[in-house]
Amino acid sequence: MRSTRAICAVTIAVIAFICSTGCLEAPRTEVKRNVLIVLWDAARARNLSVYGYGRSTTPYLQEFAESSAVFTQARSQTSYTLPSVVTILTSTFPEVHGAYWEKMKEKNDFVCYTPDAGSERYVQEILSSRDFWSVAIVGNRMLKNAKQLSDSFDTYRVLGGWKNTQAVTDLAISSIRKLRESSWLLYVHYIDPHSPFDPPEPYRTEFFSPKNGNEPIEGDVRAFNDGAKEWDERDINGHRDMYDGELSYLDAEFKRLMEALRASGVLDDTIVFVIADHGEAIGEHDDWLHGSVYEECIHIPMIVRFPNGQYAGEYDFLVETMDIGPTILREQGLEIPENFGGHPLQEQISRQWQRKVSYSRYFAKSAFVFSDGYKLICYGDECRGGLEVFDLNTDPLELRNLANLKPDLAQRMRAEAFQWKSNHVVFDVETSALDGASLADDAEALRALGYLD
Ligand SMILES: [Zn+2]
Repeated sequence: MRSTRAICAVTIAVIAFICSTGCLEAPRTEVKRNVLIVLWDAARARNLSVYGYGRSTTPYLQEFAESSAVFTQARSQTSYTLPSVVTILTSTFPEVHGAYWEKMKEKNDFVCYTPDAGSERYVQEILSSRDFWSVAIVGNRMLKNAKQLSDSFDTYRVLGGWKNTQAVTDLAISSIRKLRESSWLLYVHYIDPHSPFDPPEPYRTEFFSPKNGNEPIEGDVRAFNDGAKEWDERDINGHRDMYDGELSYLDAEFKRLMEALRASGVLDDTIVFVIADHGEAIGEHDDWLHGSVYEECIHIPMIVRFPNGQYAGEYDFLVETMDIGPTILREQGLEIPENFGGHPLQEQISRQWQRKVSYSRYFAKSAFVFSDGYKLICYGDECRGGLEVFDLNTDPLELRNLANLKPDLAQRMRAEAFQWKSNHVVFDVETSALDGASLADDAEALRALGYLD
């Protein structure tokens, strides 16, 4: 049996070693904070009134934001659901975790690769090992066969159909009530405002009126992308009206969920995230749905209510969905595993660390948003299929490609982007699955699943 003195000597030596490698602050005591992650599927920042939109689409979220940290420059790391969700919960880039639909097509599941992760890849697994209950209520049926994701939660419930938003709220509320005596992580994934847009009244006609001459979209907008169907300004306006109605509907459901959390008495012991997995294109860049890395598809809301409203305010530095996992662990006073690629928001707020580049990828398209507001979009490996440069400070809608006007700037950004990437995205799980050649095959696979996300 080891003596107490020997144990103390080891402890002191360990603390001395940790501090010699850069102690920024005294080690925090481990605490237990509940975690509520509320994901709005396909919500783009620019249509939320809390982000300055002209219509009052999210009045409750504005109220919620008063006691929250509002991040105005949040980017999702990809623009489709499965890899984005896995990025949020593993704090790794899609190239690192490798969760793609084609793996589900082959095996009815994917294998999530995270090098050096050990047995706990997901943030909920880390918390579960510390006596938290982890529960997922998922309104997107396409996550139903993601067995590895579902196994990472203690309870994982997927609801069918496209009109399940109220049921998701009801289940989430009953989970909060049942878990009252425990510490918990609750992941609530709303399918709204994902297309097809069809909010119930009174939200359906809150912004849409045939009197405006707008057209509600009948059928599937994929026909627009395929070129099988023509569209014009009236389609864009009608579709946007419906999308805004979806946001307003979801805002009311989110209010119902938060009121239940408050009534349960644990609001100030809970860290609440409001995020999206990606945005949505409504005719911008001649595109519909979410298959690009333009701002409408990757600039997302990220609003975080820390316990007791700590850090409330607006922050305009670059953050990523990668940061959610580390933020959760930091809030508990837990170590952040090395394989987590994001950084705690608390450190970013206190300016201990700032991001220079935010990275997103959708198959062969990659986006690098720089902290000075410039953005590079690359097509193909190392931009061999072309590139675009935008100044988001003066051109937030990406209407003016500067690549030919400022070729020196474009080449400098390209060099910086690939230098950054070689240092940060070091594990590309299956390059062949991400290059342009397989894009068509993959799109076909998604269609076969009845869903092109
Ligand atoms: Zn999605």
